[in-house]
Amino acid sequence: MRIICDFDGTAAQDDVGNLLFRAFADGRCHDIIRLWKAGEINSKECLQQECDIARVSREQLCEFVDVQKLDPRFPKFVQFCKSNNIEVEIASDGLDFYIERMLENHELGSAVKVKANHLIFSGDERLAAEFPYFEKGCGHCGNCKGYHVAEAKKKGHFVLYVGDGWSDRCGARAADFVLAKKKRELVTYCRENDIAHCEFGDFSDVIKITTKFLAEATF
Ligand SMILES: [Mg+2]
Ligand SMILES: [Zn+2]
Repeated sequence: MRIICDFDGTAAQDDVGNLLFRAFADGRCHDIIRLWKAGEINSKECLQQECDIARVSREQLCEFVDVQKLDPRFPKFVQFCKSNNIEVEIASDGLDFYIERMLENHELGSAVKVKANHLIFSGDERLAAEFPYFEKGCGHCGNCKGYHVAEAKKKGHFVLYVGDGWSDRCGARAADFVLAKKKRELVTYCRENDIAHCEFGDFSDVIKITTKFLAEATF
């Protein structure tokens, strides 16, 4: 079994990417996000435009990231997976910089693989993003989670996908089973599209649900 997990609003308590651009792009990201949600721009263009208008130094960004919180049970969940030989991978359409730093802050850097878009500090407090997985995806996502799920399935893994939002749609469609965070957009999407799923509150629920899968089946 492999667990592929969203970061913002899932492994992390809040949407760190969204908060980051709200903090350092003068609140000018609302229109960009609206265009993305309306399907008028893809998430790659969305992230590129957000990076273009943000002004922040590496030091400021580190300070900002260091006060962001993971789901309090996420470290325990990673430990649980390690004990049960389950690989955990973060697939995010956000930026690798804050994801890797938050994981490092909790000494989880070596236990969790990260597949995300790449942040570049290009001087003068300017940011840019690179999209190492864009070509492999659906063309709408900067980093299509569906691609990472498909890759794991190709290797013969049963894939549980854990997520909460709009950017998890491709991952959810491709997965064997979805854990969708309560009261978030992914729950509605799974219901409307008949995707096998159950809801979770925090990562202690994710541990319980994964335990059930381990007990009921052989992977
Ligand atoms: Mg999310
Ligand atoms: Zn996609």
